[in-house]
Amino acid sequence: MRIVMKFGGTSVSTGEKIRNVANIVRDNIRIGHEVVVVVSAMGDITNQLIEEAEKVENGNEEKIQEFIKKLFEKHANVIDVSIKNKNLKEETKLEVKKIIDELKKILTGICYVGELTLKTKDQVLSFGERLSALIVSSTLKDHELESHYFTGKEAGIVTDSKFGEANPLMNFTTHQIIQRIDPLIEKRIIPVITGYIAANQNGIVTTLGRGGSDYTATILGVALDVDEVWIWTDVDGIMTSDPKIIKEAKTLAGLSYGEAAEMAIFGAKAMHPRALEPVIKKHIPVRIRNVFNPKNSGTLISEGAEVESKEVVKAIALINDVSMINIKGARMVGAPGSYAKIFDILGKNKINIMMVSTAVSEANISIIIRRSQLERAMSILEIALLGRNLGNEVTAEEYVSVIAVMGANMKGSLGVASRIFTSVAKKDINIMMIAQGSSELNISFVVKEKDGAAAVSSIHEEFNLSK
Ligand code: ADP
Ligand code: ASP
Ligand code: MG
Repeated sequence: MRIVMKFGGTSVSTGEKIRNVANIVRDNIRIGHEVVVVVSAMGDITNQLIEEAEKVENGNEEKIQEFIKKLFEKHANVIDVSIKNKNLKEETKLEVKKIIDELKKILTGICYVGELTLKTKDQVLSFGERLSALIVSSTLKDHELESHYFTGKEAGIVTDSKFGEANPLMNFTTHQIIQRIDPLIEKRIIPVITGYIAANQNGIVTTLGRGGSDYTATILGVALDVDEVWIWTDVDGIMTSDPKIIKEAKTLAGLSYGEAAEMAIFGAKAMHPRALEPVIKKHIPVRIRNVFNPKNSGTLISEGAEVESKEVVKAIALINDVSMINIKGARMVGAPGSYAKIFDILGKNKINIMMVSTAVSEANISIIIRRSQLERAMSILEIALLGRNLGNEVTAEEYVSVIAVMGANMKGSLGVASRIFTSVAKKDINIMMIAQGSSELNISFVVKEKDGAAAVSSIHEEFNLSK
C-alpha cells in the first residue's frame, strides 16, 4: 500500500516518542508499504511561538534571547535521545541552530517594528514544524532508512494568501507534489514533510489553520493518490467523547466522511475540520490510529462506514476555554439592525463568534467566543454601544464550556433534547444557553466550566455510549 502517515504534536513531543515514530515507519516499510511522513511541531511548541510573537510585538528584546535559548535546548535534548549516531546528532543540532537563528532575526524584527501582522505570524509559526520535521527525518536516518526532509513549500503545497487559515490551490499543488515527491518514493527514500505550513504563489509562508497538519496529510494523500491516509495520535481513534475527560469513552470503529467532519467541526479535537475535504472527492480512506498502541486498527473514516448504533446520539464534545457575553436592553426591541451591528463590530475586530442565542423578546442576545478574546470583545462592545440604539448592558461569564451533542440520527427524532437536558438537570447542573442548528444534527449548550465534565458524563451514560 501507499500511505501518508501524519504524526501529531503529541506523538513527537520527546526523543523517546520520536524513536517510537521511527520504529512505526520502519515496520511499515519492512512489510512493503510506501510511506510519506507528515509531522506537527513537537508538543505545544506552536502555542509557545504564538505567545512569544505576541509578547515581542510589545517590544521586549531581552526576552527574545531567553526564549531562543530555551527553544534550542528543548530541541537539542530531544535530539540527544532520538539520534544515536554521533555525527548525525551534531549535524542535526547545527541545522537546528541555523533554523532557530533565523527565527531570532524575525522576532527581533517584530520587536523593532512593533507590529505583528497575520503574514509575519505565519512566518513565526512555521518554525515549530520546520524543526520537528528535520529531527524526525534525521531519526529515520539513524534507523538505517533513507530520508529527505521538506517544508510544505518545498514539497509544492501552494495556497491562497489567507494567512492563518490558507486554502490549498489543489491543481497546481498536485502537479508540483507529483514532480517533487513521487520520484523519491520510487527510489525508496522516505519524504518527511512539515505539516501545517505551505506558501502562497509568491513563495511567502502561509499556514492552514490550527491543527492543520491533518490537512497537509490529506492534501498529499490526494496528490500522490495513496491507498490510505493514517493520522497517528495519542488515543485509539475517534471516540464517543474525549477519553481524557470520560474514561469510559469508546473508540468508534468506522465513521462516514460526513459524521467525522461533523465531529471535527463541533469540537472533537481528533481531526482538523477541513482535512476531509480533499479525500472525500477521491474516496481515499482516512484512519485515525494510536502511536502508543499500533496493534489497534483505530477508526476508519470512509464512504459508507457509518457508526453502528441504535442510539441517536453518537458522540459528545466538550469545548473549554470559551466565555459568554450577554447583551441586554429594551433598546434592542423592534430596532432593526441592532444584532447586525453587534456582529459587525465583533467581525471587524477579528473576534470569532462560536455560538449565538437570542430570545423572541429581542431584549437580549448571548454570544460565545474564545476566552482569550474576552477582554478585547467586552471593551469594544462597550465603546460601540455607548449612545447607540442597541443594548444597554453588556455582561460576561468568563468560565463556561460548550457541550455539543452529535448524531446524524438525531434529525427528526423526538425527545432527544428532553433526554439530554433531564440527564444534566439530574446532576443539578444549570444550563445557561442552548442552540440547535436547523440541520438538527447537533444540539449545543453552555454550562459553567466546573460542570462541563459532569454534564458530558451524564449524557454519555444516558445514551449508553460506553456499551
Ligand atoms: P495531535 O497532537 O495528534 O494532533 P490533538 O491533541 O490535536 O492530537 O488531538 C488528539 C486529542 O484529542 C486526544 O488526545 C483527545 O484527548 C482529544 N479528543 C477530544 N475529543 C476526542 C474524541 N471524540 N475522540 C478522540 N480524541 C478526542
Ligand atoms: N502545530 C500546529 C498546531 O498546533 C498544527 C498541528 O499540530 O496540526 O496547530
Ligand atoms: Mg491535532
